[in-house]
Amino acid sequence: MDKKEFISHHPEDATALLCICGNTPWAQGFLSCDHEGREIEVIEKFGPLYCCDACGRIIDADTLAVIGRTGNEDAVGVGV
Ligand SMILES: [Zn+2]
Repeated sequence: MDKKEFISHHPEDATALLCICGNTPWAQGFLSCDHEGREIEVIEKFGPLYCCDACGRIIDADTLAVIGRTGNEDAVGVGV
């Protein structure tokens, strides 16, 4: 991955994540995950990583940077 991707916040809700694929918390939503995209229980101060449930991008919620991607993108067929 040469160029870093960043997601954004929803224009109408600054607290809501808006994934590059168009997913929002009220669409397919985001899961808490670790650096490899494995779903985790939300533990206090574990880390602000989220996995997009639509495209599998792993997102650092502090910087909105896409730090990786889980292997599940084949299963969803989102063309991004
Ligand atoms: Zn996504």
